[in-house]
Amino acid sequence: MVQTGFDFLVIGGGIMGLAIARELKRTRSRARIALIEKETTCGHHASGRNSGVLHAGFYYSKESLKAKFCKEGNRELRQYCLQKNIPINQCGKLVVASNEREVEGLHELFKRAKANQVELSFISEIQAKQIEPRVKTAGWALYSPTTASVNPADVLRSLHEDALQEGIDIRTDASYLKQTADGILTSKGPLAAHFIINAAGLYADRIATDFGFSEHHRILPFKGLYLYSSEPAYSLRTHIYPVPDLKYPFLGVHFTLTDAGRIKIGPTAIPALWREQYQGWSRFKGDELFEIAMRQMKLIFSSTWDFKRLAWEEIQKYFGKKMVALASNLVEGVSPSDYRVWGKPGIRAQLFNIKTEQLENDFVIQKSQSSLHILNAVSPGFTAAFPFARYVVEKIGS
Ligand SMILES: Cc1cc2nc3c(=O)[nH]c(=O)nc-3n(C[C@H](O)[C@H](O)[C@H](O)COP(=O)(O)OP(=O)(O)OC[C@H]3O[C@@H](n4cnc5c(N)ncnc54)[C@H](O)[C@@H]3O)c2cc1C
Repeated sequence: MVQTGFDFLVIGGGIMGLAIARELKRTRSRARIALIEKETTCGHHASGRNSGVLHAGFYYSKESLKAKFCKEGNRELRQYCLQKNIPINQCGKLVVASNEREVEGLHELFKRAKANQVELSFISEIQAKQIEPRVKTAGWALYSPTTASVNPADVLRSLHEDALQEGIDIRTDASYLKQTADGILTSKGPLAAHFIINAAGLYADRIATDFGFSEHHRILPFKGLYLYSSEPAYSLRTHIYPVPDLKYPFLGVHFTLTDAGRIKIGPTAIPALWREQYQGWSRFKGDELFEIAMRQMKLIFSSTWDFKRLAWEEIQKYFGKKMVALASNLVEGVSPSDYRVWGKPGIRAQLFNIKTEQLENDFVIQKSQSSLHILNAVSPGFTAAFPFARYVVEKIGS
């Protein structure tokens, strides 16, 4: 029997789905809201497997949605963690240059910080070494005091608990299967709702297609691997990042400190062959392998951007040695013997435009009178989730 009576139905229990359900409840206290999640817990995918960094917001061009929400998201998520007693490491971050050319990149990031009104200092190598004595940089660096880190699993657990307390009907182990005349069919039966929000991460494009959206967009998954250091916690005082290639939405191998001060390097951006290809043959899906491999092959031979070079550089990082070598450009005293333990990998739901053959850089939202689809919820989606959810709820209207 179809379960009716829901005003809103959210598909996906990552940070986006939970933050949107929370915002809907906050603005429409009498609304009946359901959220379905295909796993047995919320936050099983990107939201629980990311670097846990609360980004400051200086990477993104001024007109982007990423710029619009990152700075405020950082402030709100920090406040949320403090309120909920979730450990947070307010360690800041250095961005370093490995040569003169990269110093130009520092200038560009500094310009973006100014445009986005994000606090960031352009500092000398001497000042950088006062912040972190082991840092390596070519004369200059950037220092971001508001970059912080948390354990993303703590945040997801807390948001899940809040949602239950606020009366949101959360159904785990319930997969969206297809659209029906009055709602959707899930693995636990049919559900009907006035408005459906698709926040399904790695599967958001597929679900959007059922609703007539995502015509020119498909997910092209990229895997992020991490290597943990065996050095004692707080052996580094701050996150340390290289200057990224702003053509790509990836930040390069960097040092992140966890909420408890442990050091990890990563994440990689290795092209994955199916959407949830975390390890070995786990969650293998032949149809996905076929579609994604075909797309990657096409990109290798006819790309308007250098997918071949990116793929080759990234695949080499399956060998920890390559990751450690890159990391040692940023910090003194990096020893391969300290980096033997792989962390839990995450996979980016990166959106690819099949018409222009480009990766989308910004968040993408598509909507009709009865459904809204969140595509390309990539980094800094974790940081930006609260103000982004407000924006989505405003877009839904009354
Ligand atoms: C390696 C990596 C590092 C990152 N680092 C950072 C960082 O440091 N800081 C930052 O701000 N951001 C970071 N991000 C980005 C951030 O993790 C994402 O932007 C954010 O988690 C996206 O949230 P989401 O809810 O859209 O996706 P997800 O967390 O993937 O949630 C989608 C949910 O939908 C569910 N679902 C899918 N299909 C169905 C279906 N058919 N039926 C029901 N449910 C379904 C999934 O099971 C999943 O739980 C990183 C991402 C990765 C992969």
